[in-house]
Amino acid sequence: SLVTDSSSQNTPTTSINNGNDLADVNTTAPTTPAVESGSGGMFDNITSNPYFSAGFGLLGIGAAMTILRKGSMLGASYLQRRLLVTLEIPSKDKAYLWFLQWMSQQAPKRQVQHLAVETSFRQHDNGSVTTKFGLVPGPGTHYFKWHGIWMQVQRQRDGKMMDLSTGSPWETITVTTLSRDRHVLTDLLKEAQEMALKKQQGKTVIYTSYGPEWRPFGMPRRRRMLDSVILDTGIKERIVKDVQAFIGNGSWYNERGIPYRRGYLLYGEPGSGKSSFIQALAGELEYNICILNLSERGLTDDRLNHLLSNVPERSIMLLEDIDAAFTKRAQSDNQGYQSMITFSGLLNALDGVASAEERIIFLTTNHIEKLDPALIRPGRVDLKEHLGNASTAQIRGMFSRFYQDRPELADDFIRRIEGHPVSTASLQGHFVYFKDRPEEAIERADLLWEQL
Ligand code: ADP
Repeated sequence: SLVTDSSSQNTPTTSINNGNDLADVNTTAPTTPAVESGSGGMFDNITSNPYFSAGFGLLGIGAAMTILRKGSMLGASYLQRRLLVTLEIPSKDKAYLWFLQWMSQQAPKRQVQHLAVETSFRQHDNGSVTTKFGLVPGPGTHYFKWHGIWMQVQRQRDGKMMDLSTGSPWETITVTTLSRDRHVLTDLLKEAQEMALKKQQGKTVIYTSYGPEWRPFGMPRRRRMLDSVILDTGIKERIVKDVQAFIGNGSWYNERGIPYRRGYLLYGEPGSGKSSFIQALAGELEYNICILNLSERGLTDDRLNHLLSNVPERSIMLLEDIDAAFTKRAQSDNQGYQSMITFSGLLNALDGVASAEERIIFLTTNHIEKLDPALIRPGRVDLKEHLGNASTAQIRGMFSRFYQDRPELADDFIRRIEGHPVSTASLQGHFVYFKDRPEEAIERADLLWEQL
């Protein structure tokens, strides 16, 4: 009943009801004389009695006061309805975190009394740890002024509800301001969004699967530049051109009623730059990457399907070492765990539901010969590229990238390793080891194949 009470107070119908109350009071007043005239003397006495009249008078004042008080409450809520505008941001909305971060920068600390801490924690590759404490406005009511306009911000926590995907309590932020200033709310959200996105700018977010959903894996990484990956002549250009043509072409797919998707296969020796290239490509396109490991424990056809059809927007889907998914299964049986996806489940998930959303899928493998032809037939895989051991052009490219002031030595190096297949990854390792010592790198080139 509480709920209906409060809601009816907010609706305009209450003011009509209360108007009726008023009418009731008024109508009872004139009926009294009617009764009085009908039944004669006794009522005459009562009304002429000064105490009784006073009583009626008081009753009248009391009623009037009640009406006034109700009226002013109604008036206040009416004014609130007309003059104030509120914006509600639930914690599941993207704007929620943006707004909190924005507010922690906006509101000078003295204006905000309740603060909450938000810790970002990061472990670097070398094991060191960075921790940053961010102070954001805590639950409660805050007032602050922005662009000369006062606003009230209420951050409320619902103790009983919880956001199951993150395990954090359910919250809402309500921003209230004068309605003539309502335009600032959109400005404010825009500013908060820009501020948040600037932090991601120049970064690539890597998502991995976590149960049935995608979650960012670590902090966004600095974008990898395309020219830091040296592939054999023409490969990079072919793929980049193809992806770019695909991205701008949604209507072509829609008009023909085919799923707006495109699949790529990069195959070849390990350490030839397949993953590095996909990362650089994502950076170039300003996309994020969703990585899925098909031999992951507990992955089922259903979950695979769900994951593939709920890829975060603007991201490249990457299925690494696709050949391992099915061969490893046989081996892992005796280790007691099993990936439960079936081959047909994978094909179904790849073909996907006919959705209007674009989907870019990259598959990588070191062993193309192990793949079932059904997996890489056109429609599932539209472009295949071989990334193999370093070609002469690649060796030259990498050499001049590492020894920028001695590119003329590249030919010596190429001659030294002629006839020995080396991967670009091991070249990188070699050049890092002989950092700033190109002559030694050439002399000890034999390390490259002796290690193998
Ligand atoms: P793959 O996915 O083919 O096994 P990666 O992309 O993981 O290979 O490469 C492993 C390492 O070697 C990375 O650090 C990457 O920088 C380097 N590397 C490999 N190939 C190249 C290349 N063609 N150009 C630049 N760096 C490369």
